[in-house]
Amino acid sequence: MSQRLKQLRDIARGLSHNLRHREAAFRTASEHEAYQNEQLKRVVQHAVAHSDFLSELYADIDVEGDLQLHHLPVVDKRLMMDNFDRWVTDPRLKLAEIEQQIETDPEEQYYLDEYRIVATSGSSGLRGIFVYDRLEWGVVISAALRWAKMFGYSPLELAYKKIASIKAEKPTHATSRLSQSLDLGIRNLLTLDATEPLENLVEKLNKFEPQLLMGYGSLISLLAEEQVEGRLNIAPEMVASFSEMFGEDRVKRARQAWGITPFNHYGAAEQIMIAADCDSHMGLHHFADMSIVEIVDSDNQPVPPGMPGDKILLTNLHKFVQPVIRYEITDLITKASCDCRCGRTFPLFSGISGRAEDFISLRDKAGEVVSISPIVVCACLIEHPDVIEYQYSLDGNSLTIRVVSRESANQTSLKEALRRSIFNALSGQGAVDFQVEVEFVERLIRSGEIMGKLKLKIAGGNPEGKGI
Ligand SMILES: [Zn+2]
Repeated sequence: MSQRLKQLRDIARGLSHNLRHREAAFRTASEHEAYQNEQLKRVVQHAVAHSDFLSELYADIDVEGDLQLHHLPVVDKRLMMDNFDRWVTDPRLKLAEIEQQIETDPEEQYYLDEYRIVATSGSSGLRGIFVYDRLEWGVVISAALRWAKMFGYSPLELAYKKIASIKAEKPTHATSRLSQSLDLGIRNLLTLDATEPLENLVEKLNKFEPQLLMGYGSLISLLAEEQVEGRLNIAPEMVASFSEMFGEDRVKRARQAWGITPFNHYGAAEQIMIAADCDSHMGLHHFADMSIVEIVDSDNQPVPPGMPGDKILLTNLHKFVQPVIRYEITDLITKASCDCRCGRTFPLFSGISGRAEDFISLRDKAGEVVSISPIVVCACLIEHPDVIEYQYSLDGNSLTIRVVSRESANQTSLKEALRRSIFNALSGQGAVDFQVEVEFVERLIRSGEIMGKLKLKIAGGNPEGKGI
């Protein structure tokens, strides 16, 4: 079968799955729970029957009886990658051979004729490889179409829109794989590389005049700045951010630039569609028919709504080839305690505020480590309208903030204001004996090694963020 025909069949499968599951957004809470339990049982039973590693891990679990999610052990990326060949449920899948495939032919859509390979950037320090078979990819396509409907477009309407997508250059990144699988050679899709110089992106976007603009949060924010400054001149009817947190400051900037509220999406290589917001913008709807997300503290105990967790435990309800069950991801997520006015019953995440790796560890008066959320520093930076973007590094007890400022900014006074407010904010958290330095730079480096994303915290003394 030709590749194009296979692609078409996968899209058709996604469309039909989408039709069957579009009512899921309006199920009652108990219906969501029942569906999740049923799918969880299917995934776990499949894992026990076909994965050598997971059958050993779950040896003491009664997977036929009343299966309780919290009885299953927590796993992480390192455990999965160290045991990849015994973890997957198709013995033909070997990590070394998949790595070889990525090296020699990353564009290939169908490894072993049926698997799509997705690689994570390793921004948490460890690279991950995830394989999706065609049925599983059909579910991903279906969820992507449902997201499109949430921001107002049917699959047919989407096909006629001019879409610009700015993302990773690497074809193995989840967002690249998804656009590759939906690209049938239609000429209304412009894909841009997030690591390209900003001037090039602006030039290409001005020429293309997209109706829909999608990309990493930090880039959307920079483009909004370009629009405000008059160098970019486009009029998108929809803007969406993915892969990076999109805080209030970025939302404000996008509104100022294009007069519309941007949409936000949250996903991972382990589950490409975890949550997204609707046009009520009250938070991100968790797609409860796609995954279970447990928001927990550092001891894996549930955290109540309204409080950010230290991490999430993700269970992908449709992943059978490489099961992802109670899998730790160090994202700081808050569950909302209210419902959305749109009527969808998918629960809301009120905050997705970055990764635990971005925390700043300093010492308090007693010499104990005090771990400070990135939100504390970001809040100081975003309140200054002259700050366009920023990054920080911690070297011992010295925090260096690298800032891109507006051309018109008075850098001397801005520097002093930022130093003072960040110093006071960190002191307010109990930190003592530390220094804050502010450096102005022309641009921040979006390293190809982390797939063009902007890393908030970079390694001390290693400004390009390499190797992290
Ligand atoms: Zn809603």
